[in-house]
Amino acid sequence: MAEDLLDLENHCVELLAERGVTLDDIADCARYLQADYHVDLTSEELLESVHAVLSKREVQYAVMTGIALDKAAEEGRLGDKDLIALMMSDAPLFGADEVLAYGICNTYGSIALTNFGFIDKKKYGIIRKLNRAGKNTGHCNTFIDDIVGAIAASAASRFAHRWVRDVDEEEH
Ligand code: MG
Repeated sequence: MAEDLLDLENHCVELLAERGVTLDDIADCARYLQADYHVDLTSEELLESVHAVLSKREVQYAVMTGIALDKAAEEGRLGDKDLIALMMSDAPLFGADEVLAYGICNTYGSIALTNFGFIDKKKYGIIRKLNRAGKNTGHCNTFIDDIVGAIAASAASRFAHRWVRDVDEEEH
């Protein structure tokens, strides 16, 4: 069972890499989300949290689903021309990508959700790159930009929770 989980995590890391996203890119987004609270925090320190988020089954399924849909749209295999057109242009009112991302954030509480809203609006780092490369370019990044944002938001939330817990333990 543990091996299966690790396999799926590795599978997700490979899928992300195939779409141009490294775990360092995601850790950098998580660092950006914590920068106001921890000025000296490095993205390396957030990599552990990125791995922890990616080790969750629910997150792995969301990553696999989102990337499969982006690839299917790109290859014209979605079976609905209108849906393909919506996804290839990253239509602003298409919200299923965000809803899938909320599923990732829900595992990490309200801080993850607010972090996700923030980074989705700011489009920092790799998220901006994906967003630009996925609008009427022949590439579809409709789901992956939100997936990356949600993993980063969840990793930042996990870090924040653990940091507060450690401070509380020191004080009590
Ligand atoms: Mg999107």
